[in-house]
Amino acid sequence: MHFYGTQTVNEKGHLTIGGVDTVDLAHSYGTPLIAYDIALFRERAKAFKETFKNAGIQAQVAYASKAFSSIAIYEVAQQEGLSLDVVSGGELYTAIAADFPRERIHFHGNNKSYTELQLAFDEKIGCIVIDNFSEIAMVKEIAEIRKESMKVLIRVTPGVEASTHNYITTGQEDSKFGFDLKNGQADEAFKQLYDHPYIGLLGMHCHIGSQIFETDAFRLAAKALMDKMVAWREQHQFICTVLNLGGGFGIRYTEEDEPLHPSAYVEEMTSVVLAMTREFQYPIPEIWIEPGRSLVGDAGTTLYTAGSTKEVPGVRKYIAVDGGMTDNIRPALYEAKYNAATANRMNVPHSDPVTIAGKCCESGDKLIEEAFIANPEEGDLIAIFCTGAYTYAMASNYNRLPRPAIVFCEDSEHQLVVRRETYEDVIRLDIPLQLAKRGEKI
Ligand SMILES: *Cc1c(COP(=O)(O)O)cnc(C)c1O
Repeated sequence: MHFYGTQTVNEKGHLTIGGVDTVDLAHSYGTPLIAYDIALFRERAKAFKETFKNAGIQAQVAYASKAFSSIAIYEVAQQEGLSLDVVSGGELYTAIAADFPRERIHFHGNNKSYTELQLAFDEKIGCIVIDNFSEIAMVKEIAEIRKESMKVLIRVTPGVEASTHNYITTGQEDSKFGFDLKNGQADEAFKQLYDHPYIGLLGMHCHIGSQIFETDAFRLAAKALMDKMVAWREQHQFICTVLNLGGGFGIRYTEEDEPLHPSAYVEEMTSVVLAMTREFQYPIPEIWIEPGRSLVGDAGTTLYTAGSTKEVPGVRKYIAVDGGMTDNIRPALYEAKYNAATANRMNVPHSDPVTIAGKCCESGDKLIEEAFIANPEEGDLIAIFCTGAYTYAMASNYNRLPRPAIVFCEDSEHQLVVRRETYEDVIRLDIPLQLAKRGEKI
């Protein structure tokens, strides 16, 4: 049993998060419920920021908010002095609703629409991370029509791809994102942008993968980008002031995962950049990073109520919970692994392997193939850990299940930040055939 952040067991044998009894949470808000340990989010944010500060490097730590996008988490990000990555008009709209400081919003995406780009200009956001040539044309056009400037980064693919314990270097990158650093595309993008009167080219961006546990890949990526920065200075007397090395820092879902401390990734990046700037006498750029999963992943815990059980004699025992692939598609989508506990009976031995299944009509709707929890009984509160990233953000209404509620827990207090969908919410976009025919206004 591994406890994350502020998690403990109280005198009743209940799991607590942020000093709040999870059984009380389930009574107050119902299940499934995602509870966030906000102190843990703050601690992670501070660790990233402090490491840059200690190295004496100007930095922006941008929360890659596709991991979990909501007004309240954007407010916490703002309180912690983070910047914000958005990847769509919808996430940008959420940031506006949270009144996030516009100059610290960065806009990503490989197919931004003209309308989305216009919204970015309307809001005078801090930076657009340019991904492709059609986007260059659109950004220039909007800037020229409006006679308004916009800061941009060029997203490049550095030929380094990383995942968990290893990385590969590729000469030519086969990716839908960004300009290739080696085949001349990045140079062409640079030429189209660097001396444009309304474009403020800040520098380069790359993002090399996700759930990464080692630092070599970041070092190689930083080196590849720095080499290009030096080349652009030689050829065009242009100095990049920002080097954005993306996110992808790993977290501990199960005991097989051994992530590094946030500071280890940052220290590796800063040391490479400092060494190279010294070697080439290049002005030290600001370093930007974009953690998503590592800020919210292990801060989130999903609470489910156990329902029906099924024993396949000699094979396994199933316990079904009141959610599933609708609130966490990661196990079905890419065999993601999780740990669980029986949150209302933490002090009994957690030794019975059971399969925790969801309630959707898909055989693949299993949350954990082999969970070691207390022998589950109907009505138990099952906690699945580390569900703060890419779960609610990917939630669906499959089988017309309402999406869960989300609560923030901190300092023994809890606050609802996303309300549970109702059946009314589930049908709110439906237009009955008869109404449509009669042309009635809805
Ligand atoms: C998804 C993404 C991130 C965040 O990745 P994590 O693995 O959640 O840290 C950062 N930057 C970009 C450009 C991304 O697409």
